[in-house]
Amino acid sequence: STNNKYDFSSIAKSFSFGGSFVKSQPYGFGHINDTYEAYFEMQDGKMKRFILQRINNNVFKNPEKLMENIQSVTAFLRKKIIEAGGDPDRETLNLIPAVDGKSFYKSDEDNYWRAYVFIEGAQTYQVVEKPDHFYNAGRAFGKFQKLLSDYPAESLFETIQNFHNTKVRFETFINAVEKDVMNRAKDVRAEIDFALKRYNEAVLLVNMLERGELPLRVTHNDTKFNNVMIDDESGEGICVIDLDTVMPGLSLYDFGDAIRFGTNPAAEDEKDLSKVWMDLALFEQFTKGFLSAAGDSLTKAELLHLPHSAKIMTYECGIRFLTDFLSGDTYFKIHREGHNLDRARTQFKLVADMEQKFEQMQKIINGGI
Ligand code: ADP
Ligand code: MG
Ligand code: MG
Repeated sequence: STNNKYDFSSIAKSFSFGGSFVKSQPYGFGHINDTYEAYFEMQDGKMKRFILQRINNNVFKNPEKLMENIQSVTAFLRKKIIEAGGDPDRETLNLIPAVDGKSFYKSDEDNYWRAYVFIEGAQTYQVVEKPDHFYNAGRAFGKFQKLLSDYPAESLFETIQNFHNTKVRFETFINAVEKDVMNRAKDVRAEIDFALKRYNEAVLLVNMLERGELPLRVTHNDTKFNNVMIDDESGEGICVIDLDTVMPGLSLYDFGDAIRFGTNPAAEDEKDLSKVWMDLALFEQFTKGFLSAAGDSLTKAELLHLPHSAKIMTYECGIRFLTDFLSGDTYFKIHREGHNLDRARTQFKLVADMEQKFEQMQKIINGGI
């Protein structure tokens, strides 16, 4: 998307920025929304920038409900941070309301905009550059869980239904195997068997949730390292951003998914599987950070199942890639033949490696509690 595609001065006027619009330009490395920094001359004559985002309405079909989630969760966080004596303008996202009081501005049928206070003096990083950054990311997501531990999670809108329902994911997978529309199942028998063998463990967390053995939580659902703002001076993970996928779920989804993609030194589509493994040192960094901040807000059952969650989230991702390979690559974009199969194989390699390292994960967790 180019910068002159939208009429920014009119969009800017639709929010209560409290200054006059100067200019805007694309900002950051997000892959989902269109993010801009917008500069304003404020009443005191000083320049100030804000974040202006066009919500991706291909991915998010109900932007108004999504914004209700963000509005409500950020207001809750703000209150908690003030109570704890923190800095509410840096430790949570803060929406700038539209002039009509809404949390978004709809410029036309297809374009929903939102604005945030710009968090200055901090950055997001695409890759972990220092090990303690990963510790600090763990802390940030742990703190996010803790601050929201008494938020009524069931009141949130389920932005993407059954996002981590491994039972439903598994059924979809079995369907794809049975239909076998591309006649590819014969080539991936080993991968299919790998998935089938692990069914019982794959649905463990969903079953526990259904039985009330794990609490429903506010879940971030995109716990990537580049969704944490790292403070320029302290290196601390000061704020968790990118709240589009906040919805009811399990704290274990957030932990497990962070481990899935954060601890594998290779790319998600690496063909040389000898390069794909879980780095226990990184696991330890994230886990210690996460537990140091979330620790006492998590139940015994949650703590006990942290290693399972890493495995289950990785397994889930693997069967999603394999499902898409079997169905003719209709969901994930592919850039080469067998791309989704390569992706499924990295995830299953990672699952196998996690099984090897299961006791070591448990030891690290026990040391961090
Ligand atoms: P996406 O869903 O596309 O990943 P994000 O909400 O993560 O979008 O935003 C993209 C990038 O914009 C972030 O990685 C971050 O660098 C920057 N960003 C987002 N919100 C803020 C903010 N409030 N202050 C400063 N930078 C921000
Ligand atoms: Mg992001
Ligand atoms: Mg996002």
